[in-house]
Amino acid sequence: MHQPTTEPRRSIYYDYRIHQPWLPSQHGPQPRHQVVIAGGGPVGMTAALELARHGVPCVLLESELQVSEGSRAIVFTRRSMEILQQVGVADRVTQHGLPWRFGNSFYRGQRVFRMEAPQDDNDRFWPMINLQQQYLEEFLVDACEASPLIELRWGNRVTGLVQHADHAVVEVDTPEGPYPLETEWLVASDGARSGLRSLLDLKLEGASYEGRFVIADIRIDLPLPTERLAFFDPEWNPRNTVLMHREPLNIWRVDYQLPEGETPEQALEPESLKSRINAQLELIGHGGKTWEMDWCSVYSARTLTLPDYRCGRTLFIGDAAHLLPIFGVRGANTGFQDAQALGWRLGLICSGQAHESLLASYSTERVGAAREIIDEAGKSTRFMTPPSRGFRLLRDAVLSLSLTEAFVRPLYHWRTSRPHEYSGSALNSAGDDNALFQSGPAHGAPPANVRLGADDFLLDHLGGGFDLLVFGTTVPADVQATVKAWQAKGLKLRVLLIGQGASANGADACLPDPEGRARARWGVRTDGAAYLLRPDQHVCARWMTLDAHRLSAALQQATTGVAP
Ligand SMILES: Cc1cc2nc3c(=O)[nH]c(=O)nc-3n(C[C@H](O)[C@H](O)[C@H](O)COP(=O)(O)OP(=O)(O)OC[C@H]3O[C@@H](n4cnc5c(N)ncnc54)[C@H](O)[C@@H]3O)c2cc1C
Repeated sequence: MHQPTTEPRRSIYYDYRIHQPWLPSQHGPQPRHQVVIAGGGPVGMTAALELARHGVPCVLLESELQVSEGSRAIVFTRRSMEILQQVGVADRVTQHGLPWRFGNSFYRGQRVFRMEAPQDDNDRFWPMINLQQQYLEEFLVDACEASPLIELRWGNRVTGLVQHADHAVVEVDTPEGPYPLETEWLVASDGARSGLRSLLDLKLEGASYEGRFVIADIRIDLPLPTERLAFFDPEWNPRNTVLMHREPLNIWRVDYQLPEGETPEQALEPESLKSRINAQLELIGHGGKTWEMDWCSVYSARTLTLPDYRCGRTLFIGDAAHLLPIFGVRGANTGFQDAQALGWRLGLICSGQAHESLLASYSTERVGAAREIIDEAGKSTRFMTPPSRGFRLLRDAVLSLSLTEAFVRPLYHWRTSRPHEYSGSALNSAGDDNALFQSGPAHGAPPANVRLGADDFLLDHLGGGFDLLVFGTTVPADVQATVKAWQAKGLKLRVLLIGQGASANGADACLPDPEGRARARWGVRTDGAAYLLRPDQHVCARWMTLDAHRLSAALQQATTGVAP
């Protein structure tokens, strides 16, 4: 019998709320559900909210009675914020988080590189915002509990799974014993140690790195801005790396690499933690300041992914699908994109507007994204924790040269998480004008935001389904007719006319573009150009001049993966 702890987790700044378990005896017989999500972490909850946005109800099973322990993912990217905006929690993250865009790398007491993440007046969100994962999870829980389409069952642990051709039967254990639950689709978001991966005997592919880090959150009042700090080969920790991040509420994350051969148990001994954190504070000129430990853990980097995110009726997302190094803030930020990519496809399938074969593109796109991230993250991981003598020699050469030579300094820059461009996706239109554009978001790219007013941005107007952005002052009559025909079949499709303030026939929204910002960012030169965005806002077609026939072809391809 599953007995999740009812003791709130310990924290010096966060009050854990214990939720009531969902017990089968208090509910009637269970019908077959369309979607069950196993794992109510940040990615599972985002998937539930995405599904709700597309009108699909789901049951969300969470093994524990409270949100996760420790701050874990603390840096959320602009793209994550755009996704969280869609599911209604971005405002709360903005309200509580600390935005930032600079990173500093130090070697031998000298700042050798300053990273500056691009920030444009056209972006609603900062490149990065720091917030402890517990808060983000709390905001997502509130949003899930407020949704009539999401049934969040606390204290429900998935322990068994039998898959059939058109459904799966999940065994769920609770504080009063197990019960079976039938579902057409099972979303596996049960985290890094995914039990569902094991139940299905699926193996992750990739590498695990030797270098171990202590991750410690301390409360301390430091008069420093919110910028990432990285120290290479500091005197107190020779040959190793130390990172520092500011979190809200005067909490600081200190990550330091352990000397080779040290065990996690040795590393987490109170005396060891104390002396090393004191040494780091000394290094930044704040030695002797009082601080308090909140949470600490030992971490080592892994770059692993399942080769396919679909197994029968089960679909993997988040850490259950891939394990990515936290350098470059890749864990949760990648998971949100999985949730978004899966949500709209399941939405179309569950409402009968797409065949389940559409899911093949979910797996191809997201496995491709994970492999790209693994490639990039591998480079940063090898720089931070060189895995061999050769890599160390190279890294040390960059470090010492950087003291005098500016040209090597950019080599310090490990790229942070960014949205994958599905440039080779089967959903991209085969017959559009993608290749004719000289700029603007291309096939598979995420959208470019544009400021339309003091507190008004283009992406605020997207959402809920496919969006057709038409640049100009009118929507051609044949395009209007085609849009209506697709809407009549049940497809959510909106038309946004950009460059026209007043209302216009066939447009769901008319957005003025007096300074031509939208045209410039989207690479549009003439009236009549158009973009088609999928419900996850990625571009699947663009035209210099839109016509009804090509629009219909693009919609068909985007909902089937097959060119007409
Ligand atoms: C120490 C640490 C530090 C990290 N730091 C960062 C960072 O700085 N930046 C970053 O981007 N990422 C970081 N991460 C990674 C980040 O926390 C994860 O990528 C993120 O939590 C993944 O979300 P998820 O929802 O996929 O999985 P999880 O957050 O692991 O959620 C899985 C959920 O499933 C539940 N569950 C598990 N098994 C079952 C079951 N059988 N039945 C029902 N429910 C189940 C769990 O209780 C949990 O709530 C860190 C992780 C750790 C461990």
